Amino acid sequence: MPRVHNFCAGPAALPAAVLERAREELLDFAGTGVSIMEMSHRSGVFDAVIKSAEANIRELLSVPEEYAVLFLQGGASHQFAMVPANLLTDGEADYLNTGTWSAKAIREASVAGKVRVVWDGQDEEYRRMPRPEEYTLNPDAAYVHLCTNETIGGIRFPVVPQTQAPLVADMSSEILSRRIDVSQYALIYAGAQKNIGPSGLALVIMRRDLAGRAPESLPIFWRYRTFIENDSLYNTPNTWAIYLVKLVTDWLLAQGGVAAMEAVNDAKAARLYAALDSSDFYTTMAEPEWRSVMNIVFRTPSEALDAALVEASSAAGLAGLKGHRVLGGLRASLYNACPPEAVDALISFLREFERTHG
Ligand SMILES: *Cc1c(COP(=O)(O)O)cnc(C)c1O
Repeated sequence: MPRVHNFCAGPAALPAAVLERAREELLDFAGTGVSIMEMSHRSGVFDAVIKSAEANIRELLSVPEEYAVLFLQGGASHQFAMVPANLLTDGEADYLNTGTWSAKAIREASVAGKVRVVWDGQDEEYRRMPRPEEYTLNPDAAYVHLCTNETIGGIRFPVVPQTQAPLVADMSSEILSRRIDVSQYALIYAGAQKNIGPSGLALVIMRRDLAGRAPESLPIFWRYRTFIENDSLYNTPNTWAIYLVKLVTDWLLAQGGVAAMEAVNDAKAARLYAALDSSDFYTTMAEPEWRSVMNIVFRTPSEALDAALVEASSAAGLAGLKGHRVLGGLRASLYNACPPEAVDALISFLREFERTHG
């Protein structure tokens, strides 16, 4: 069975070169006679892997020295809870509700403390992000939370909102796909399974001083500072996932880093949107100004045709095009590991499907 073109929103495609390398090293990692999953997370061999993963991320995103880079378990959803537990100890947090993931973060934060929703896109079916003049951020908020790329609605912030309060961002579905200025944020988190590695791992990049806010009443395991003090090794982390993050970030550096990926990603998305826009058969969901470069959400004239397209596309070797269950329709996720050839194959398939079904 040859590998197919994979457009799954997550867990998403990993670079083929990374999977091949992992296969080569699976039974005997670096001459140890065991796999990376079968050795102590305190061993020198694993220590070199986690240090290298961290160093790669620091290099790829130019992470300033005063920021910690953490590998935590529980994915992005755990961060929905961990962020307010650590940072919403006093006052109120501002949240922008721009999609299904923001809404989930808001529900979780509301359990921990006071949340103010400063803008809500639900009535517009989350088809766009807000303009800066449409909301007012409280400069004294405990923090401001946003999701920079909404994976389900397929919208993104082209530029980051400006605020004096600490800015917290869920970047699960776009981290390492475009250049960012880490110093604009107080804390960035991302579930790994979209653009960095396998599921079950969250990457957290945070200003170290913020970790001091956690109250003593917070369980030790829930405090960021526990993981900062222990270099992400307070308990046994997901060693396999961290190893894959190292391989993915090695691969990214070899591709020329984030700026090079951004150029490739912008070109991939532009080609697909242009193909969809030039057709009367396909409709995109997001308002053009706010379109995601990673997750392209669209539909055919009917649900029956959407279903027929999903089936025909898998038969043609294009996987993962079914839309998210809350929205239906179709979605093509063009993360870093999705090569330009896959997008070209998708465009040819879509044209042919339109010709035969339009
Ligand atoms: C996938 C995703 C999540 C959830 O990630 P889990 O690791 O499953 O918790 C959260 N936010 C965004 C933006 C996502 O794309």
